[in-house]
Amino acid sequence: MSYQRVALIGLGLIASSMFWAMKRAGMEAHVTGYARSAETRDTARRIGLCDTVCDSAEEAVKDADLVVLAVPVGAMGRVAEAIAPHLKPGCTVTDVGSVKKAVIEAVGPHIPEGVDFVPAHPMAGTEHSGPEAGFAQLYDNRWCLIVPHGAREEATERLEAFWRALGANTERMEVEHHDLVCAVVSHVPHLIAYTMVGVADDLRRVSDQEVIKFSAAGFRDFTRIAASDPTMWRDVFLTNKDAALEILGRFTEELFALQRAIRTGDGDTLFDYFTHTREIRRGILQAGQDTDAPDFGRIKKAE
Ligand code: NAP
Repeated sequence: MSYQRVALIGLGLIASSMFWAMKRAGMEAHVTGYARSAETRDTARRIGLCDTVCDSAEEAVKDADLVVLAVPVGAMGRVAEAIAPHLKPGCTVTDVGSVKKAVIEAVGPHIPEGVDFVPAHPMAGTEHSGPEAGFAQLYDNRWCLIVPHGAREEATERLEAFWRALGANTERMEVEHHDLVCAVVSHVPHLIAYTMVGVADDLRRVSDQEVIKFSAAGFRDFTRIAASDPTMWRDVFLTNKDAALEILGRFTEELFALQRAIRTGDGDTLFDYFTHTREIRRGILQAGQDTDAPDFGRIKKAE
């Protein structure tokens, strides 16, 4: 059974994409929305984002069957505390945060008796943020990880059905495992991109003009990722510290091994390593997880 009233708290890329995907799916739910700044609320009203844009989070959640917290991870606890007394008994609260342990610790204690909290994480995004960044297709064929945390089974299944209607596949995951997986596939790669762009900027022998003019595919991809929202990514590293540090440690070890192979002229090691990573890329394309990539069609044809 789908929800009758949905409240989106935070109106950025993730929430706005959810709204457009709900409308595309023909859901009849009335969607209320709230963002902390008047500027974002005005933009939302101008572009028709949400059926009703409210001037307070309390008003937005009042009659909602589903409340989605779509603010940076570091703000989840404060928002949950503010809305808690206004939640409708029997409703479901979910979040879309990129880190789950810290969000569960921050939000969980504020959830009143009789309300289900079902943490979730749609594994989809772009480097853009804000209310105008969203689009209906963002979740198509992407994963939404669900981390059930003491919620009723019925409430969890209902949220899973909701995400599938938005185009996503769903999978349940245990909280620590979620944070480790995301450190590998998302968090540390972002840190590496931020670092690489920072390094290029530091290289004063390469002028800014040259960095921009000769920007090859590899570096260009890094700059796109490194343009991601600083608040969101600061919060991700502050709250997923252990998993991020563990993966960074492993990354550094591998980097040193490759560095030694380059210094000693060990071509076999380099060749074998790059052959293995190429296979991983093939696997991602075959799983349909990068359908916009120019090599996606080629791989599909060869199958
Ligand atoms: P976004 O586009 O930057 O939007 C964030 C929203 O949260 C805005 O409406 C903003 O309000 C509001 N907000 C920011 N700081 C706040 C605070 N301290 N208190 C209350 N509201 C605040 O962000 P997003 O990309 O949609 O990300 C939202 C959540 O989804 C984050 O938890 C993130 O970890 C998660 N997520 C992001 C991605 C991604 O790739 N972007 C992917 C998966 C999950 P104003 O506009 O009024 O400032």
